[in-house]
Amino acid sequence: MQATNIMQRKIGAEEADDGFLFVEKAWLPKLPSPGTPFQLTVGKSTLKTKIVESGPCQCRQPEHVHYRIPLPLMNPVEGQTATLRVVKDGKVVLDYAS
Ligand SMILES: [Zn+2]
Repeated sequence: MQATNIMQRKIGAEEADDGFLFVEKAWLPKLPSPGTPFQLTVGKSTLKTKIVESGPCQCRQPEHVHYRIPLPLMNPVEGQTATLRVVKDGKVVLDYAS
C-alpha cells in the first residue's frame, strides 16, 4: 500500500510537449496551495516552483480549472510514470520511472 503523501500519474503527450505535470484534484490537499512557492527536487536539480491554475476549461461540465506544475526545460517523457512525494518542510520530490 502506498503512503498517502505519494502521488503517481502517467505522463501524457501534452505534459511532455509543453513541459509540465498535471496536478490531479486528489493531490491538491497534499501539496502546497496553488501560487505558493515551494522547492521541487528533480533528480539532482532543485528548483523553486509553484502550482499554477489554468484558465476556465470546458473539457467537461461544469466549467472548471486545471492545475499544473510547470517543468520548463525539464520536460517529462510521455509514458513514464511520475512519482511526486512530499518530504519534510513542504519540499516535494519528483521521480520518473519507465
Ligand atoms: Zn478541463
